[in-house]
Amino acid sequence: MPVKKKQSLKSSQPTSVVTGGAGFLGSHLVDLLLARGHKVIAIDNLVTGSVNNIAHLAGNSAFKFIQQDVTDYIFLDVPVHYVWHFASPASPIDYLELPIQTLKVGSLGTHKALGLAKAKGARFLIASTSEIYGDPLVHPQKEEYWGNVNTIGPRGCYDEAKRFSEAMTMAYHREHGVETRIVRIFNTYGPRMRLNDGRVVPAFIGQALKNKPITVFGKGDQTRSFCFCSDLIEGIYRLMNSSGVEPVNIGNPHEMTVLEFAREIIKATGSRSKIVFKPLPQDDPKQRRPDITRARTKLKWEPKVPLKEGLTKTIEYFRDKV
Ligand code: UDP
Repeated sequence: MPVKKKQSLKSSQPTSVVTGGAGFLGSHLVDLLLARGHKVIAIDNLVTGSVNNIAHLAGNSAFKFIQQDVTDYIFLDVPVHYVWHFASPASPIDYLELPIQTLKVGSLGTHKALGLAKAKGARFLIASTSEIYGDPLVHPQKEEYWGNVNTIGPRGCYDEAKRFSEAMTMAYHREHGVETRIVRIFNTYGPRMRLNDGRVVPAFIGQALKNKPITVFGKGDQTRSFCFCSDLIEGIYRLMNSSGVEPVNIGNPHEMTVLEFAREIIKATGSRSKIVFKPLPQDDPKQRRPDITRARTKLKWEPKVPLKEGLTKTIEYFRDKV
């Protein structure tokens, strides 16, 4: 299908399509877009997303939910101005359990979402990831770094799907002139994460709230940098509205070891939990911290929510879920 003439992005009430719109980050994005005057169509197959994340939007005439797998043809009978492709399992446990679905949504799903953007003349943003840097040999990670990924390892299905999705996004930009944006999302936390998704934030908070042992993998000397969800979504919104197609890291550069993080969680919850050490999963990245110079200069963005404040909100959310 030929590229449709670009829609005017200045429409008084633009329409956004959010794939993965019932997921952790997708649903926070939906909320922000509605608050900023968009009509929003969320598409999700609910494999890792949940209607609980969008239940508060029932009856909102600016919002529509379609339960669909985005690897199937996406048919929408309305103008669309922005496509935000967020659908994907995103926790290491999820993509270990769903390696083929993870590869399909990153490849076939990205193809369908790009096809929709092209057909509608919409601007497209792909939710990529710090995982495209693999177990990085460069620290902190700048967008120019090409990464160090084990294609055949357990995380390969996610890392390579996202690397493919970036390549496909650039191909649609170069060959079809689709306006594209690529955000590389670093570790993010907040309300609406699934308690049992296996990621370190819900895992530690759940364990701490039940006064159960906190399971630190390896020696806990691997590092991560945690960004609160509202900061991240604001950065991504700015990226969509900026110019230029080069990838942009969005994350919080405040780096800590996993062991330090476990101690923070014990303190923030007032838990009696003790720390126990478990084997380090294969290919677990040893260190991760975004270089956010590009986001700072291009988007005038940087994270604002301190860890303590973000954790308080997240712990509150999990308190009645444990
Ligand atoms: N981790 C841990 N205990 C857990 C879950 C995770 O020590 O119960 C570690 C994991 O090995 C990794 C870090 O916490 O080094 C972050 O893991 P997560 O699954 O949140 O995401 P990743 O950053 O590895 O994609």
